[in-house]
Amino acid sequence: MIRVAFYDTKPYDKPSFERYGEPAGLQFRFFETKLNEDTAALAEGCEAVCVFVNDTVSAAVIDKLYACGVKLIALRSAGYNNVDVRAAYGKIHVVRVPAYSPYAVAEHAMALLLTSVRRIHKAYNRTREFNFSLNGLTGFDLHGKTMGVVGTGKIGRVFIDICRGFGMRVIAYDKFPAEGSGIEYVTLDRLLQESDVISLHCPLTEETRHMISAAAIEKMKKGVVIINTSRGALIDAEALLEGIKARKVGAACLDVYEEEADLFFEDRSGHILGDDLLSRLISMPNVIVTSHQAFLTEEALNNIAETTVNNILTCLSGDGICENELCYHCGEDAVCRTHRKERCF
Ligand code: NAD
Repeated sequence: MIRVAFYDTKPYDKPSFERYGEPAGLQFRFFETKLNEDTAALAEGCEAVCVFVNDTVSAAVIDKLYACGVKLIALRSAGYNNVDVRAAYGKIHVVRVPAYSPYAVAEHAMALLLTSVRRIHKAYNRTREFNFSLNGLTGFDLHGKTMGVVGTGKIGRVFIDICRGFGMRVIAYDKFPAEGSGIEYVTLDRLLQESDVISLHCPLTEETRHMISAAAIEKMKKGVVIINTSRGALIDAEALLEGIKARKVGAACLDVYEEEADLFFEDRSGHILGDDLLSRLISMPNVIVTSHQAFLTEEALNNIAETTVNNILTCLSGDGICENELCYHCGEDAVCRTHRKERCF
Protein backbone atom coordinates (compact mmCIF):
# COMPACT_ATOMS: atom_id res chain seq x y z
CA MET A 1 0.00 0.00 0.00
CA ILE A 2 1.43 3.42 -0.97
CA ARG A 3 0.05 6.22 1.20
CA VAL A 4 -0.58 9.55 -0.51
CA ALA A 5 -1.49 12.82 1.22
CA PHE A 6 -3.90 14.53 -1.16
CA TYR A 7 -4.07 18.30 -0.57
CA ASP A 8 -6.71 20.84 -1.62
CA THR A 9 -9.27 18.10 -2.27
CA LYS A 10 -12.48 19.12 -4.02
CA PRO A 11 -15.57 16.93 -4.39
CA TYR A 12 -14.86 16.49 -8.11
CA ASP A 13 -11.35 15.10 -7.41
CA LYS A 14 -12.28 12.08 -5.33
CA PRO A 15 -14.26 9.81 -7.71
CA SER A 16 -11.60 9.64 -10.43
CA PHE A 17 -8.67 9.26 -8.01
CA GLU A 18 -10.45 6.53 -6.06
CA ARG A 19 -11.39 4.77 -9.29
CA TYR A 20 -7.78 4.62 -10.57
CA GLY A 21 -5.85 4.66 -7.29
CA GLU A 22 -7.48 2.07 -5.06
CA PRO A 23 -7.21 -0.92 -7.43
CA ALA A 24 -3.55 0.03 -7.99
CA GLY A 25 -2.80 -0.11 -4.27
CA LEU A 26 -2.75 3.60 -3.47
CA GLN A 27 -4.31 4.79 -0.25
CA PHE A 28 -5.28 8.46 -0.41
CA ARG A 29 -5.60 10.65 2.65
CA PHE A 30 -7.82 13.43 1.37
CA PHE A 31 -7.30 16.84 2.98
CA GLU A 32 -9.39 19.88 2.08
CA THR A 33 -6.63 22.19 3.25
CA LYS A 34 -3.95 23.43 0.86
CA LEU A 35 -0.33 22.44 1.30
CA ASN A 36 1.78 25.09 3.03
CA GLU A 37 4.31 25.26 5.84
CA ASP A 38 1.58 24.79 8.45
CA THR A 39 -0.04 21.77 6.81
CA ALA A 40 3.02 19.90 5.51
CA ALA A 41 3.12 17.77 8.69
CA LEU A 42 -0.19 16.15 7.68
CA ALA A 43 1.89 14.12 5.22
CA GLU A 44 3.67 12.30 8.06
CA GLY A 45 3.66 8.59 7.24
CA CYS A 46 2.94 9.14 3.54
CA GLU A 47 5.37 8.28 0.74
CA ALA A 48 3.86 10.85 -1.62
CA VAL A 49 1.86 14.06 -1.65
CA CYS A 50 -0.54 14.98 -4.43
CA VAL A 51 -0.91 18.73 -4.99
CA PHE A 52 -2.68 21.20 -7.26
CA VAL A 53 -1.96 24.64 -8.70
CA ASN A 54 -2.53 26.74 -5.59
CA ASP A 55 -0.69 24.54 -3.10
CA THR A 56 2.55 26.13 -1.90
CA VAL A 57 5.55 23.92 -2.63
CA SER A 58 8.32 26.29 -1.56
CA ALA A 59 11.79 25.34 -0.31
CA ALA A 60 10.57 25.51 3.30
CA VAL A 61 7.59 23.24 2.56
CA ILE A 62 9.84 20.81 0.69
CA ASP A 63 12.18 20.62 3.69
CA LYS A 64 9.22 19.83 5.97
CA LEU A 65 7.92 17.15 3.63
CA TYR A 66 11.41 15.66 3.36
CA ALA A 67 11.68 15.55 7.14
CA CYS A 68 8.33 13.69 7.20
CA GLY A 69 9.78 11.02 4.89
CA VAL A 70 7.91 12.10 1.73
CA LYS A 71 9.69 10.82 -1.39
CA LEU A 72 7.48 12.18 -4.15
CA ILE A 73 5.48 15.30 -5.00
CA ALA A 74 2.86 14.39 -7.59
CA LEU A 75 1.35 17.44 -9.25
CA ARG A 76 -2.10 16.82 -10.65
CA SER A 77 -1.57 19.72 -13.06
CA ALA A 78 0.55 20.58 -16.08
CA GLY A 79 1.87 23.93 -14.78
CA TYR A 80 4.45 23.72 -11.98
CA ASN A 81 5.32 27.34 -11.28
CA ASN A 82 4.23 26.81 -7.64
CA VAL A 83 6.99 24.23 -7.05
CA ASP A 84 10.57 25.15 -6.18
CA VAL A 85 12.05 22.35 -8.31
CA ARG A 86 15.57 23.51 -7.51
CA ALA A 87 14.94 23.07 -3.79
CA ALA A 88 13.41 19.63 -4.40
CA TYR A 89 16.42 18.40 -6.38
CA GLY A 90 18.32 15.69 -4.51
CA LYS A 91 15.56 15.36 -1.91
CA ILE A 92 12.10 14.72 -3.30
CA HIS A 93 11.18 13.70 -6.83
CA VAL A 94 8.55 15.82 -8.60
CA VAL A 95 6.16 14.53 -11.27
CA ARG A 96 3.37 16.26 -13.15
CA VAL A 97 0.67 15.57 -15.73
CA PRO A 98 2.07 17.25 -18.83
CA ALA A 99 -1.06 16.69 -20.90
CA TYR A 100 -4.52 15.60 -19.87
CA SER A 101 -6.80 17.33 -22.28
CA PRO A 102 -5.49 20.26 -24.27
CA TYR A 103 -8.98 20.30 -25.78
CA ALA A 104 -10.56 21.14 -22.42
CA VAL A 105 -8.48 24.31 -22.02
CA ALA A 106 -8.51 25.35 -25.68
CA GLU A 107 -12.28 24.87 -25.95
CA HIS A 108 -12.79 26.88 -22.77
CA ALA A 109 -10.70 29.71 -24.21
CA MET A 110 -12.94 29.76 -27.28
CA ALA A 111 -16.08 29.51 -25.10
CA LEU A 112 -14.94 32.60 -23.19
CA LEU A 113 -14.18 34.45 -26.40
CA LEU A 114 -17.55 33.67 -27.99
CA THR A 115 -19.38 34.49 -24.78
CA SER A 116 -17.62 37.83 -24.66
CA VAL A 117 -17.84 38.96 -28.26
CA ARG A 118 -21.46 37.79 -28.73
CA ARG A 119 -22.54 39.05 -25.27
CA ILE A 120 -24.00 35.65 -24.36
CA HIS A 121 -23.55 36.33 -20.63
CA LYS A 122 -25.65 39.47 -20.93
CA ALA A 123 -28.30 37.82 -23.13
CA TYR A 124 -28.64 34.89 -20.71
CA ASN A 125 -29.35 37.22 -17.80
CA ARG A 126 -31.76 39.34 -19.85
CA THR A 127 -33.94 36.52 -21.16
CA ARG A 128 -34.24 35.03 -17.66
CA GLU A 129 -35.96 38.33 -16.76
CA PHE A 130 -38.04 38.20 -19.97
CA ASN A 131 -36.05 41.15 -21.29
CA PHE A 132 -35.85 40.41 -25.00
CA SER A 133 -34.20 43.68 -26.02
CA LEU A 134 -31.10 43.45 -28.23
CA ASN A 135 -29.80 46.90 -27.38
CA GLY A 136 -26.12 46.84 -26.47
CA LEU A 137 -25.64 43.24 -27.58
CA THR A 138 -23.94 43.95 -30.92
CA GLY A 139 -20.89 41.73 -31.30
CA PHE A 140 -18.39 41.17 -34.09
CA ASP A 141 -17.53 38.31 -36.45
CA LEU A 142 -14.45 36.28 -35.62
CA HIS A 143 -14.18 35.30 -39.29
CA GLY A 144 -11.40 37.30 -40.95
CA LYS A 145 -10.03 38.67 -37.67
CA THR A 146 -6.44 38.11 -36.55
CA MET A 147 -5.83 35.85 -33.57
CA GLY A 148 -2.45 36.17 -31.83
CA VAL A 149 -1.48 33.02 -29.93
CA VAL A 150 1.37 33.26 -27.41
CA GLY A 151 2.74 29.76 -26.78
CA THR A 152 2.20 27.08 -29.39
CA GLY A 153 2.49 23.96 -27.25
CA LYS A 154 -0.23 21.38 -26.79
CA ILE A 155 -3.02 23.78 -25.82
CA GLY A 156 -1.94 26.61 -28.11
CA ARG A 157 -1.98 24.34 -31.14
CA VAL A 158 -5.44 22.94 -30.44
CA PHE A 159 -6.62 26.51 -29.98
CA ILE A 160 -5.03 27.50 -33.31
CA ASP A 161 -6.95 24.71 -35.07
CA ILE A 162 -10.20 25.89 -33.47
CA CYS A 163 -9.53 29.48 -34.56
CA ARG A 164 -8.75 28.41 -38.11
CA GLY A 165 -12.08 26.58 -38.11
CA PHE A 166 -13.69 29.96 -37.47
CA GLY A 167 -11.90 31.42 -40.49
CA MET A 168 -9.53 33.54 -38.42
CA ARG A 169 -6.01 34.47 -39.52
CA VAL A 170 -3.69 33.08 -36.86
CA ILE A 171 -0.26 34.48 -35.99
CA ALA A 172 1.82 33.18 -33.12
CA TYR A 173 4.77 33.90 -30.90
CA ASP A 174 6.74 31.18 -29.13
CA LYS A 175 10.22 31.30 -27.63
CA PHE A 176 10.76 27.91 -29.23
CA PRO A 177 8.85 27.97 -32.55
CA ALA A 178 7.76 24.57 -33.84
CA GLU A 179 9.49 24.10 -37.17
CA GLY A 180 7.40 22.63 -39.98
CA SER A 181 4.18 23.19 -38.06
CA GLY A 182 2.67 25.49 -40.65
CA ILE A 183 2.18 28.14 -37.96
CA GLU A 184 2.90 31.75 -38.95
CA TYR A 185 5.37 32.91 -36.29
CA VAL A 186 5.97 36.61 -35.70
CA THR A 187 7.82 38.58 -33.03
CA LEU A 188 5.92 39.29 -29.82
CA ASP A 189 5.83 42.99 -30.74
CA ARG A 190 4.24 42.28 -34.11
CA LEU A 191 1.73 39.94 -32.50
CA LEU A 192 0.76 42.65 -30.02
CA GLN A 193 0.39 45.22 -32.81
CA GLU A 194 -1.54 43.14 -35.35
CA SER A 195 -3.90 40.96 -33.31
CA ASP A 196 -7.60 41.62 -32.82
CA VAL A 197 -7.63 38.92 -30.16
CA ILE A 198 -4.65 37.71 -28.10
CA SER A 199 -4.72 34.36 -26.29
CA LEU A 200 -2.02 33.31 -23.83
CA HIS A 201 -0.89 29.66 -23.78
CA CYS A 202 2.70 29.83 -22.50
CA PRO A 203 3.90 28.82 -19.04
CA LEU A 204 4.52 31.27 -16.23
CA THR A 205 8.25 31.80 -15.80
CA GLU A 206 10.34 34.74 -14.59
CA GLU A 207 10.58 35.71 -18.25
CA THR A 208 6.85 35.62 -18.97
CA ARG A 209 5.65 37.19 -15.69
CA HIS A 210 3.67 40.34 -16.59
CA MET A 211 4.38 39.88 -20.29
CA ILE A 212 1.07 41.69 -20.73
CA SER A 213 2.19 44.93 -19.09
CA ALA A 214 1.17 48.57 -19.58
CA ALA A 215 3.87 48.85 -22.27
CA ALA A 216 2.58 45.74 -24.05
CA ILE A 217 -1.03 46.98 -23.92
CA GLU A 218 0.14 50.31 -25.34
CA LYS A 219 1.31 48.45 -28.47
CA MET A 220 -2.01 46.65 -29.00
CA LYS A 221 -4.87 47.58 -31.33
CA LYS A 222 -7.65 49.62 -29.81
CA GLY A 223 -10.48 47.25 -28.87
CA VAL A 224 -8.23 44.18 -28.54
CA VAL A 225 -9.69 41.17 -26.72
CA ILE A 226 -7.29 39.43 -24.31
CA ILE A 227 -7.82 35.81 -23.26
CA ASN A 228 -5.85 34.22 -20.44
CA THR A 229 -6.40 30.55 -19.64
CA SER A 230 -2.75 29.98 -18.73
CA ARG A 231 -1.52 31.60 -15.50
CA GLY A 232 -2.74 34.82 -13.92
CA ALA A 233 0.65 36.47 -13.48
CA LEU A 234 1.26 36.52 -17.23
CA ILE A 235 -0.89 39.67 -17.05
CA ASP A 236 -0.25 42.72 -14.90
CA ALA A 237 -3.86 42.97 -13.73
CA GLU A 238 -3.54 46.64 -12.75
CA ALA A 239 -2.29 47.49 -16.22
CA LEU A 240 -5.17 45.49 -17.69
CA LEU A 241 -7.70 47.42 -15.61
CA GLU A 242 -6.15 50.72 -16.73
CA GLY A 243 -6.28 49.51 -20.35
CA ILE A 244 -9.96 48.70 -19.97
CA LYS A 245 -10.74 52.02 -18.31
CA ALA A 246 -8.89 53.84 -21.12
CA ARG A 247 -11.10 51.92 -23.65
CA LYS A 248 -7.91 50.51 -25.20
CA VAL A 249 -8.73 46.92 -24.25
CA GLY A 250 -12.12 45.99 -25.69
CA ALA A 251 -12.65 42.91 -23.53
CA ALA A 252 -10.84 40.49 -21.25
CA CYS A 253 -11.60 36.80 -20.75
CA LEU A 254 -9.81 35.54 -17.66
CA ASP A 255 -9.79 31.99 -16.34
CA VAL A 256 -6.81 32.77 -14.14
CA TYR A 257 -5.82 35.71 -11.96
CA GLU A 258 -2.48 36.58 -10.39
CA GLU A 259 -3.82 36.62 -6.83
CA GLU A 260 -6.25 33.72 -7.29
CA ALA A 261 -4.63 31.38 -4.76
CA ASP A 262 -6.77 32.35 -1.76
CA LEU A 263 -9.96 32.97 -3.75
CA PHE A 264 -10.51 30.63 -6.65
CA PHE A 265 -12.01 27.16 -6.20
CA GLU A 266 -13.94 28.36 -3.09
CA ASP A 267 -17.44 29.74 -2.55
CA ARG A 268 -16.83 33.32 -1.40
CA SER A 269 -20.36 34.50 -2.14
CA GLY A 270 -21.16 35.22 1.52
CA HIS A 271 -17.99 37.20 2.10
CA ILE A 272 -16.71 40.72 1.46
CA LEU A 273 -14.08 40.35 -1.25
CA GLY A 274 -10.84 41.90 -0.02
CA ASP A 275 -9.27 42.09 -3.47
CA ASP A 276 -10.29 45.49 -4.89
CA LEU A 277 -8.57 44.86 -8.20
CA LEU A 278 -10.46 41.64 -8.87
CA SER A 279 -13.73 43.26 -7.72
CA ARG A 280 -13.19 46.14 -10.14
CA LEU A 281 -12.34 43.80 -13.01
CA ILE A 282 -15.40 41.64 -12.36
CA SER A 283 -17.57 44.78 -12.24
CA MET A 284 -16.57 45.70 -15.79
CA PRO A 285 -19.20 44.85 -18.43
CA ASN A 286 -16.52 43.64 -20.83
CA VAL A 287 -14.64 41.32 -18.44
CA ILE A 288 -15.55 37.67 -17.99
CA VAL A 289 -13.93 35.75 -15.16
CA THR A 290 -14.11 32.00 -14.61
CA SER A 291 -12.28 30.58 -11.63
CA HIS A 292 -9.56 28.38 -13.14
CA GLN A 293 -12.17 26.15 -14.70
CA ALA A 294 -10.67 25.57 -18.13
CA PHE A 295 -9.36 22.09 -17.26
CA LEU A 296 -12.62 20.90 -15.76
CA THR A 297 -14.06 18.25 -18.08
CA GLU A 298 -14.83 14.58 -17.39
CA GLU A 299 -12.16 13.53 -19.85
CA ALA A 300 -9.51 15.73 -18.26
CA LEU A 301 -10.32 14.61 -14.71
CA ASN A 302 -10.03 10.94 -15.71
CA ASN A 303 -6.76 11.53 -17.56
CA ILE A 304 -5.33 13.53 -14.64
CA ALA A 305 -6.15 10.75 -12.16
CA GLU A 306 -4.89 7.94 -14.40
CA THR A 307 -1.59 9.69 -15.21
CA THR A 308 -1.00 10.77 -11.60
CA VAL A 309 -1.56 7.24 -10.30
CA ASN A 310 0.81 5.86 -12.96
CA ASN A 311 3.40 8.56 -12.13
CA ILE A 312 3.30 7.61 -8.44
CA LEU A 313 3.55 3.88 -9.13
CA THR A 314 6.36 4.31 -11.66
CA CYS A 315 8.37 6.62 -9.42
CA LEU A 316 8.03 4.62 -6.23
CA SER A 317 8.59 1.16 -7.68
CA GLY A 318 10.96 -0.59 -10.11
CA ASP A 319 13.75 1.56 -11.51
CA GLY A 320 11.80 4.72 -10.67
CA ILE A 321 12.30 6.27 -14.12
CA CYS A 322 9.24 8.32 -14.93
CA GLU A 323 8.94 10.30 -18.16
CA ASN A 324 6.82 12.88 -16.35
CA GLU A 325 9.46 13.67 -13.74
CA LEU A 326 10.58 17.29 -13.46
CA CYS A 327 13.80 18.69 -12.17
CA TYR A 328 15.40 22.09 -12.39
CA HIS A 329 17.88 20.72 -14.92
CA CYS A 330 14.96 20.05 -17.29
CA GLY A 331 14.24 23.74 -17.69
CA GLU A 332 12.98 24.18 -21.21
CA ASP A 333 15.15 21.32 -22.49
CA ALA A 334 12.60 18.94 -23.94
CA VAL A 335 15.30 16.37 -24.72
CA CYS A 336 16.02 15.93 -21.04
CA ARG A 337 12.35 15.31 -20.33
CA THR A 338 11.39 13.01 -23.17
CA HIS A 339 14.53 10.93 -23.63
CA ARG A 340 15.28 10.31 -19.98
CA LYS A 341 17.22 7.10 -19.52
CA GLU A 342 17.98 7.42 -15.82
CA ARG A 343 16.61 9.08 -12.71
CA CYS A 344 17.15 12.79 -12.23
CA PHE A 345 19.01 12.06 -8.99
P1 NAD B 1 3.20 23.24 -23.38
O1 NAD B 1 4.42 23.06 -22.57
O2 NAD B 1 2.77 22.15 -24.29
O3 NAD B 1 3.33 24.58 -24.26
C1 NAD B 1 3.85 25.78 -23.77
C2 NAD B 1 4.46 26.54 -24.93
O4 NAD B 1 4.91 27.80 -24.43
C3 NAD B 1 5.66 25.83 -25.57
O5 NAD B 1 5.52 25.78 -26.96
C4 NAD B 1 6.84 26.70 -25.14
O6 NAD B 1 7.88 26.70 -26.12
C5 NAD B 1 6.17 28.06 -25.03
N1 NAD B 1 6.96 29.01 -24.26
C6 NAD B 1 7.83 28.75 -23.23
N2 NAD B 1 8.39 29.90 -22.81
C7 NAD B 1 7.88 30.88 -23.59
C8 NAD B 1 8.06 32.28 -23.64
N3 NAD B 1 8.93 32.91 -22.82
N4 NAD B 1 7.36 32.99 -24.55
C9 NAD B 1 6.49 32.38 -25.40
N5 NAD B 1 6.28 31.06 -25.39
C10 NAD B 1 6.95 30.33 -24.49
O7 NAD B 1 2.06 23.61 -22.33
P2 NAD B 1 0.47 23.46 -22.53
O8 NAD B 1 0.03 22.11 -22.10
O9 NAD B 1 0.08 23.96 -23.88
O10 NAD B 1 -0.05 24.47 -21.40
C11 NAD B 1 0.18 25.86 -21.49
C12 NAD B 1 -0.13 26.50 -20.15
O11 NAD B 1 -1.53 26.39 -19.90
C13 NAD B 1 0.53 25.80 -18.95
O12 NAD B 1 1.81 26.34 -18.69
C14 NAD B 1 -0.41 26.09 -17.82
O13 NAD B 1 0.06 27.22 -17.10
C15 NAD B 1 -1.73 26.47 -18.50
N6 NAD B 1 -2.84 25.56 -18.15
C16 NAD B 1 -3.98 26.11 -17.65
C17 NAD B 1 -5.06 25.29 -17.33
C18 NAD B 1 -6.35 25.85 -16.81
O14 NAD B 1 -7.19 25.10 -16.29
N7 NAD B 1 -6.60 27.14 -16.92
C19 NAD B 1 -4.95 23.91 -17.53
C20 NAD B 1 -3.77 23.38 -18.07
C21 NAD B 1 -2.72 24.22 -18.39
